[in-house]
Amino acid sequence: MERPPAPTSPGFAQSGSRPFLVAFPRTTAQAEALQNLLQAEGVSLTGVIHYVLSPDQIIARLSGRRTCLKCHAVYHLTSHPPQIEGRCDRCGQQLCQREDDNPETIRTRLKCYEESVAPMLDFYRVQGLLFSIEATTPQETFQHTLTALLNLPTRRTSVAG
Ligand SMILES: [Zn+2]
Repeated sequence: MERPPAPTSPGFAQSGSRPFLVAFPRTTAQAEALQNLLQAEGVSLTGVIHYVLSPDQIIARLSGRRTCLKCHAVYHLTSHPPQIEGRCDRCGQQLCQREDDNPETIRTRLKCYEESVAPMLDFYRVQGLLFSIEATTPQETFQHTLTALLNLPTRRTSVAG
């Protein structure tokens, strides 16, 4: 079974004295393992932040990506286009769309992701721990919401189950 990131790993971050995990857990099994670990330590989760972006927006973001096969520089057709269309600014190599960034491939990957993540979101939703933030929220509002969530009082009550 996968373990949560250690306090020194990249998945573990700190807001003041409040630690938080980034991109973990990703499955219900991991969420349950984390809960058992925290319960053994006598602490509980304050909240789980779910960053929400619609499939169409995810596809728009990912399918616009272009990669240089030579130096691996990454561009985006709308948010970070190369100076010369289809050519890498750094080395002049032709840019390609990775198979992973093809809209149909993205759709398939999203379906798999939804199937694995939905039960985990329900796991946290029934505990009243899930907070969703729209990824399209303006930066300032997003920051404000995130700060408010990170400063929620810690709950010591454990969840039955
Ligand atoms: Zn290049």
